[in-house]
Amino acid sequence: MKINENFLKLQSSYLFSPIGKKVNEYKAKNPDAEIIRLGIGDVTRALPAAVTEAMHKAVDEMSVEKSFYGYPPEYGYDFLLEKIREHDFLSRGVSLDSDEIFVSDGAKSDTGNIGDIFGTENSVAICDPVYPVYIDTNVMGGRAGELLENGRWSNIVYLPCTAENNFLPELPESHVDLIYLCFPNNPTGMGITKAELKKWVDYANENESIILYDAAYEAFITEDLTHSIYEIDVAKTCAIEFRSFSKTAGFTGVRCAYTMVPKELVVDGTSINKLWARRQATKFNGVSYVTQRAAEAVYSEQGRQQVQATIDYYLNNAKIITKGLAEAGFTTWGGINSPYVWLKVPEGLDSWAFFDLLLNKVQVVGTPGSGFGPAGEGFFRLTAFNSTEKTLEAVARIKSAF
Ligand code: PLP
Repeated sequence: MKINENFLKLQSSYLFSPIGKKVNEYKAKNPDAEIIRLGIGDVTRALPAAVTEAMHKAVDEMSVEKSFYGYPPEYGYDFLLEKIREHDFLSRGVSLDSDEIFVSDGAKSDTGNIGDIFGTENSVAICDPVYPVYIDTNVMGGRAGELLENGRWSNIVYLPCTAENNFLPELPESHVDLIYLCFPNNPTGMGITKAELKKWVDYANENESIILYDAAYEAFITEDLTHSIYEIDVAKTCAIEFRSFSKTAGFTGVRCAYTMVPKELVVDGTSINKLWARRQATKFNGVSYVTQRAAEAVYSEQGRQQVQATIDYYLNNAKIITKGLAEAGFTTWGGINSPYVWLKVPEGLDSWAFFDLLLNKVQVVGTPGSGFGPAGEGFFRLTAFNSTEKTLEAVARIKSAF
């Protein structure tokens, strides 16, 4: 009997448990302290009314036999696939067939599971810093090699995103098979222009690589940046795109996302679309009818207005953070096309020392940049997902202390 030993290679805890531990210790010692959390990557505003109305209606349908639904189609109901096709892609000049869209329970699952359909010997390039799931799932899948003393995995090609390159990675110097890109990025909050992304698409087509493009924060884009990688017309031969209703429409608790796998994506004569379809049909049993009706309502006229109002609320919080931090003398990035503000920690401190300082001095909790990868060291992430009231209070505290 053997376990999958790759799991033993994983570092003992995900980023957020050491944070929780430190905060709990602080609370135990300072029970009256009013801690403000600007570390949360979870939404806090209620679901749009159009969404909950659609859910109520769908629940009523499920309560009578003639409109009851059992197992959903594995890849999504047509009513939702059509809305996604039209509003997210056709409206940007991108034509996708509905069987190129796969509805799922989350971009976390999809970005994590996609590795199932690729050989373990593939080389992998990942932005640094980035959403930790890409690295951890490649460790589990046996593609990461060994953890080195510098905090990097021996077989992963790191693509540093630093202040020097304005948080846009350089193309790899050698050949890589799989490339994870995430724009607008978690944690740096930076988006990518079409011209910059085109370089990656050209690299991937020339090198027969596949780009795994995570656009979970696409809805926060306010500037002229890329929403979908397929806006670059030759991307269908080299890219899979991940989207989610989580941050867009407050679905972190409801769970619904979608992944696009174009039929033009073929490796050695094998259709990647067919492989993913097979993988999903075997290991995933679809998203509930009620949830998919909820997601459909995001695209109604009312739904779109309500979703935009929530996004504007978070973006306003991000603006408050950015402005306040600038006044306190910090350099920041992001926050314009993203709910994340990325800041340089004061000289002489590392990311965790700044975490401790912020917690002890002003009772504000953020996320140490080093938790998102070695190149995140010396940086810190604050999020716009708390209430405006709490955000203002946190910023006032930071300004008074720095
Ligand atoms: N992708 C990125 C870059 C994220 O930051 C997150 C969540 O924080 C996810 C995916 C997860 O999305 P979902 O809630 O759809 O699983």
